[in-house]
Amino acid sequence: MNITNFAVALVLVLPHISLGESVRTTHSASDADSVAHWLDANIQDLLKTYKHLHANPELSLQEVKTAALLAESFKRDGYEVTTGVGGTGVVAVMTNGDGPTVLIRGDMDALPIIEDTGLDYISKVRVSKADGTKVGVMHACGHDVHSTMLMGTAKLLSELRAEWRGRVILVAQPAEEIGQGARMMIEDGLFTRFPKPDFCIALHVQHNLPVGHIGYTSGWAFANVDSVDITVFGRGGHGARPNMAVDPIVAAAHIITSLQTIVSRRLDPLERAVITVGSIHGGSKHNIIPNEVKLQLTVRSYTDEVRKQLLDSIRQIATDTCKTFECPKPPVVTVLEEDHTPASYNDPELTAAAAQVFKSLFGEDSVYAIPAEMGGEDFGRFARHLKVPGLQFRIGTVSAEAVAASKRPGGKPLPSVHSSKYAPLPEPSIRTAVTAMSNLALALLADK
Ligand code: ZN
Ligand code: ZN
Repeated sequence: MNITNFAVALVLVLPHISLGESVRTTHSASDADSVAHWLDANIQDLLKTYKHLHANPELSLQEVKTAALLAESFKRDGYEVTTGVGGTGVVAVMTNGDGPTVLIRGDMDALPIIEDTGLDYISKVRVSKADGTKVGVMHACGHDVHSTMLMGTAKLLSELRAEWRGRVILVAQPAEEIGQGARMMIEDGLFTRFPKPDFCIALHVQHNLPVGHIGYTSGWAFANVDSVDITVFGRGGHGARPNMAVDPIVAAAHIITSLQTIVSRRLDPLERAVITVGSIHGGSKHNIIPNEVKLQLTVRSYTDEVRKQLLDSIRQIATDTCKTFECPKPPVVTVLEEDHTPASYNDPELTAAAAQVFKSLFGEDSVYAIPAEMGGEDFGRFARHLKVPGLQFRIGTVSAEAVAASKRPGGKPLPSVHSSKYAPLPEPSIRTAVTAMSNLALALLADK
């Protein structure tokens, strides 16, 4: 559907918001009131769910109980629910008359971290790794907040069915942390077995924004993530007779140094990119020149063009450096397509419209632009695949005092997401998440 086709009639209740050529929103004070009342009545139940999810986290691709909990809840709320979409993914659809189709995504997976927050609902979950050692499991990226948000928003939109027209698609996504869940769901027919959305929206917790604040980034928000393996081949020998060998460690060292000139010397300085060599392995002893060295790189960019330039340059530098050092064969350079996460783009018109909705809810000073980052998030795949507007915004989750203290001279940085000490303030974080997401959904859906 062309998104200009469902421009809706002006609502009569102020404040009314309608922005942009193609992204039309209707948001009224009565929508906001309905959401606030609903939350007052339901926040305790959502908190219980949140603490349960926090204490019972599941690793990527193992989100079985979380998915079942969400699926049951969506069913009770009257959604058509399909489980097992792309692994443990859940898709829930509610059609409620003519109007836009809005996809709301919440991710479900946790991280292999031993939690160190001291909370009374701390995760005590331990799982065994392949080598037999135990590792903790922790919702250190706030996906328990996201799952609770999805459950709350689902329930709210179902109960407030009389106030909107259109279709809601809820996506409980697995395996965000390993960058695979969104791709797996798309490959399993997310956009062929289910209706195609006109908008894709999601949120993410933010460790250094005060709770009740919303951050947004217009345009590129998260980077292309690529993993690259390089194997450099030498000819092993005695460390005392390097002239009889070809030393792959020296060749690898030159490759690493030259790779750092791609961003600094080859790329347009106004573009943004990162090349990090995160791992180098070669050799076993002081006096042995090894046969090979292995490198592992992470490569970050925003546009397809820059991504190609970086990957082409890495191949060329590795190949030509090995030639220079007379390596017995060319290096093997492998871009791990399975690990690729495409960059996330927040549609500027949708972002501007959403920011207006959020400002009417949280106040002008609590809603602001925040910088893009070179981290990855696979939510961007949905809007990119469909070529429809998408937006992932951030919600604050810590106290304003903690944020202020961290910014004072000598203040310590707050524990970030993926830290064993990251602990969102539960009630206000859930309130902010459900308030922001359900009001945005109501604004994008048509009015009754
Ligand atoms: Zn994460
Ligand atoms: Zn995350």
